[in-house]
Amino acid sequence: MKNITVLGTGVLGSQIAFQTAFHGFDVTAYDIDDASLERAGERFRGLAARYVADSVEGAADGGADAAIPRIRLTTDLEDAVAAADLVIEAVPENLELKQGIYRRVAEAAPSSTVFATNSSTLLPSALADSTGRPDRFLALHFANEIWSHNTAEVMGTPSTDPSVYAEVVEFARHIGMVPIEIKKEKAGYLLNSLLVPFLQAAGELLVDGIAEPEAIDATWRIGTGAPAGPFEIYDIVGLTTAYNISRMGDAKQQAFADLIKERYIDQGKLGVATGEGFYTY
Ligand code: NAD
Repeated sequence: MKNITVLGTGVLGSQIAFQTAFHGFDVTAYDIDDASLERAGERFRGLAARYVADSVEGAADGGADAAIPRIRLTTDLEDAVAAADLVIEAVPENLELKQGIYRRVAEAAPSSTVFATNSSTLLPSALADSTGRPDRFLALHFANEIWSHNTAEVMGTPSTDPSVYAEVVEFARHIGMVPIEIKKEKAGYLLNSLLVPFLQAAGELLVDGIAEPEAIDATWRIGTGAPAGPFEIYDIVGLTTAYNISRMGDAKQQAFADLIKERYIDQGKLGVATGEGFYTY
C-alpha cells in the first residue's frame, strides 16, 4: 500500500492524513469545498508544530514540516481515489452520508482498492454493501491525538478477506500505530467497550452521593496506578459529549446528565477545552 487517500479532513481525517504522510506515504486528502481544504492546511501546520512540541521522534529539524508537501488536497472525489491503494474514510458520523460517499467511491476507485472506515459508532457491516466490495472493506479506528494515543483498532465484517485484514494491520504498523486486532464486530470496539461502563459507574457514584469526584479519581489513580481517574477523563472527553451520551441512558445516567448540565455546562464549564469542568486547568 503506497498511495493513501483520506476522505474528510476534520479533527480525525487531518490527523490520519498527517500521520500517514509523516511516515513517508503519499497522501491525497479530500474534502467538500475549498474552505474545508483551507482549514485542513491550517490543521496540518498546527499538527507539525504539535509533533515538535510533543517530541514525536523524527519531528524536529524540519521532519514534521516535510510531511505537509506529501499531502495533496482536492475537492474532486473521483480524482482523489483514482490511484488509491487504500482509502480511509473519516467523514461525519452519519450513516446515509457515509453510504452515499461509498457508493461514489466504489464507482471511481480501482477494484483492487481497499476501503477502511474510521467510524466510532457505526458497525462496518452497516456500510459494507454500499462499498460494492465487502471483501475489501473493514474498520480502521484511530483515537484522537493519534501521534501519542496510537492505537489503531482493526475490525472486519464476516465478509472481510483475511488477507486484506492482514494488509491493513501491516499498514497501521507502518504509520506508527499499535494495531489492535478485533476478532468480531463489536459496537464501541475495545476502548469504548471498556471506557463507557467505567465512566458510567463513576457517574453513578457521584449521583448517588457516595463520594465526590476528587475521592473517586484518587481511588482509581492510587489503587491501580492509572494516570487519570474517571472525572479527569470526562474533562478531557468534554462534558457536552458526556452529557449527550448520558442522557440517552437509564434513569441513573439521565440524572447524571442533569447534574452535568446544571453544575457545569450551563456555567460554560465544558472541561479541559474551556479551562474548567470537574477541575480547573
Ligand atoms: P469532523 O466533523 O471534525 O470532520 C468531518 C470532515 O468531513 C469535515 O472536514 C467536513 O468538511 C467533511 N465532510 C462533511 N461532509 C462531507 C461529505 N458529504 N463528504 C465528505 N466529507 C465531508 O469529524 P471527525 O471528528 O473528524 O469525525 C470523522 C469520523 O471519525 C467520524 O466517523 C467519527 O466517528 C470518527 N472518529 C472521530 C474521533 C474524534 O475524536 N473526533 C475519534 C475516532 C473516530
